[in-house]
Amino acid sequence: MSEEKKVRLLIRPAHFVPNVADRFNNNGRVHEVGYGKCNFRCEFCSFGHWAVEDYPEYTLESFEKKVWELLRYSKNFRFAGGEPTLNPYLADLLRIVKIYGSQVFLETNGSRPDIIKELLDEKLVDIVGLSLKGLNREEATATANIKKSELCWENVIETMDIVSQHKDATLVVTYVACDGYFKEEDLDILGELLSPYPDVTYKINNCYDDNRGDKKRVGLDKSEIYKMVERFVERHPEYKGRTVLFREHDCCFDSSKIALF
Ligand code: SF4
Repeated sequence: MSEEKKVRLLIRPAHFVPNVADRFNNNGRVHEVGYGKCNFRCEFCSFGHWAVEDYPEYTLESFEKKVWELLRYSKNFRFAGGEPTLNPYLADLLRIVKIYGSQVFLETNGSRPDIIKELLDEKLVDIVGLSLKGLNREEATATANIKKSELCWENVIETMDIVSQHKDATLVVTYVACDGYFKEEDLDILGELLSPYPDVTYKINNCYDDNRGDKKRVGLDKSEIYKMVERFVERHPEYKGRTVLFREHDCCFDSSKIALF
């Protein structure tokens, strides 16, 4: 174990991972391991407001000690960001938690398929949660606020292909619905986009109100979006049992409020 490998991480409790389809056994307390950099610049994201330089610095040795503490509560870990695949020591950290038989949920923007493939080939990740920034290249590029569109489109499609073809991993794809941007037919467009992935969990987040950035984004009316998703599943029964709606912010804390269709 090298003392030279040091990384700033925000380790804190998370309530659960958004699997909601019984794909993460013993989905009790989850330890979130946050990494402080991202290659996207989504304007609605609060990430840029965090004092990343204040994250504690860990060596692999001190990380493993922290893992020992956390294992008393559960073996569930969520690696998130920023973008966790930018962490040069991500595989080292995952190997440590996997030594103890932990379950790993990796939350990614999907921009780095090669890294994801390596992690899956080494069986270091159980569920990949991928947030889709748009329903087409232009929308994704505008939302991610980046110049290299392949990072938020072609690479993301490649990541979905890789995860869905991997027999040991599960794919959860999230799309955020914002009032004024989101229309009911967008659910069908997303359904078409995800049709090559027969086992994907299709997850809609109703945007949690956010005043940051130039534009205020808000979610849709809770019952309106519920009915939209309900009608979508009626139109597309192939998504029954694997379509999930987070219609309000409380869903992040109380899994009983998450709707599974
Ligand atoms: S990809 Fe995620 S962490 Fe990065 S800026 Fe966008 S919302 Fe924030």
